[in-house]
Amino acid sequence: MKLSEDHPTEEVLERYLTEALPEGDAERVEEHLLVCHSCIDSAEQALAFMESLRSAFEYLPKARAAGSQALNE
Ligand SMILES: [Zn+2]
Repeated sequence: MKLSEDHPTEEVLERYLTEALPEGDAERVEEHLLVCHSCIDSAEQALAFMESLRSAFEYLPKARAAGSQALNE
């Protein structure tokens, strides 16, 4: 298994960041992030995107209530 060449998809990264991954998968992503700068960049971008969504929702309570993919806090 070559962790450094097996990039998690954006979706997997997002699930990792929202702690939606099973423990074993989360560990694999974490180990990968230790050695892969491009995935750290992707994770940071995904995180910034999720943060901007989150703050947008805070200004728009109706949108938050209607959001089908609520972020777990
Ligand atoms: Zn990677």
